[in-house]
Amino acid sequence: MVLKELPELALQQCQGEYKMTILENVLEDNKKFVENFEGEEMSHHAQKKLAILTCMDCRLIDFFEPALGLKRGDAKIVRNAGNSIVGEDAIRSIGAALYNLGAEEVMVVGHTECGMAGADAEALKEKMLARGIKEEDIAKYDLAEWIGGFESEEENVKNVVEKIKNHPLIPDVPVHGLIIDIVTGELKVLVDGY
Ligand code: ZN
Repeated sequence: MVLKELPELALQQCQGEYKMTILENVLEDNKKFVENFEGEEMSHHAQKKLAILTCMDCRLIDFFEPALGLKRGDAKIVRNAGNSIVGEDAIRSIGAALYNLGAEEVMVVGHTECGMAGADAEALKEKMLARGIKEEDIAKYDLAEWIGGFESEEENVKNVVEKIKNHPLIPDVPVHGLIIDIVTGELKVLVDGY
C-alpha cells in the first residue's frame, strides 16, 4: 500500500506527525492503569464520615487528599470553581452525602492563590462574545453571580460555611472552614464547626 492510500490518521502516524488527542491520551493511560490495578469492591459510605467542598483547581490533584490524610473511600468530595455555593448543586451534593452517603460533618476547604479570586464578570462577558455567545443570552444571566468570584479566599470560605449552615435543608451538623496552602499543603482552620 502506498502512503497516500492510507487513511489520514495512519498517514500522520507513519510520518511521525500524529499527535494524540487529549481523549486518546487519557484512554491510553487508562489502559495501562487497568492492566496494573487489582480491582476491589468498596462501600459507597464515607469511611471518615466527612463531606468536603473544595476547589476544582488542577494543582489539588494528587495533593489535596494526601495533605488531608484521605484515602479512597474516606470522604465525599464536591469540587467546583472556587469551592462556592452558587445555585443549589453543591448544596444538593452535600445534602446527599449527609442524608444518604454516611457523612456526618462538612468541611469547606479553600486554597491560596485561587483562580476564582478576583474573577471579573466584564472580562468574562468579552470572552463569551468573542466565542460567539449571543448578547441576548448573556443578558439572561447575572454574570457576576454566575461566575461566583470573590475578593478573598478566606472570606469566601467563611461565607460558604454560613451558606451551608443556614440552608433550610441542611441538618444541624458541624461545618468547618479551612484553607490549604497550595504550595506547602499546610491547613489553617478558619471556622471550627464544633
Ligand atoms: Zn481555586
